[in-house]
Amino acid sequence: MDDSTKDKQEALDKRYIRMASIWAENSYCKRRQVGALIVKDKMIISDGYNGTPSGFENVCEEENNVTKPYVLHAEANAITKIARSNNSSNGATMYVTASPCIECAKLIIQAGIKRVVYSEKYRLEDGVELLKRAGIEVVFISMDNGKLKSEAACASEQ
Ligand SMILES: [Zn+2]
Repeated sequence: MDDSTKDKQEALDKRYIRMASIWAENSYCKRRQVGALIVKDKMIISDGYNGTPSGFENVCEEENNVTKPYVLHAEANAITKIARSNNSSNGATMYVTASPCIECAKLIIQAGIKRVVYSEKYRLEDGVELLKRAGIEVVFISMDNGKLKSEAACASEQ
């Protein structure tokens, strides 16, 4: 990749990751909201956020504030949504607002996803390590710039 292609890719990556973070707002989970997009040939072919399976009540946490064991992560929801469609995740890029856990990393590998862009580091990096071992390109993008920009925009509006 030459420099201008690289810059364009980085700009696109930032926009998609911002979209994923907006998508995370759909999550009714209280402890943590995560959003994911799957992009292929510059098209968003799937999306997901963390939540309970279809048909279950929209509550992620037990009374003691522990996440229910059947809550699906954003990545798993995005991948399983493709399984119900005519699309294929093979060769696609996944944008996810948090670093994938090891369970999701396994799904990402098996779904044929070739590139993962994420924006928030998590103390456990075993998912990211597994993706790299599988030869998947993993890119970290800090959302700080996006936040600073939107804060500046708010300040100028006031
Ligand atoms: Zn996960």
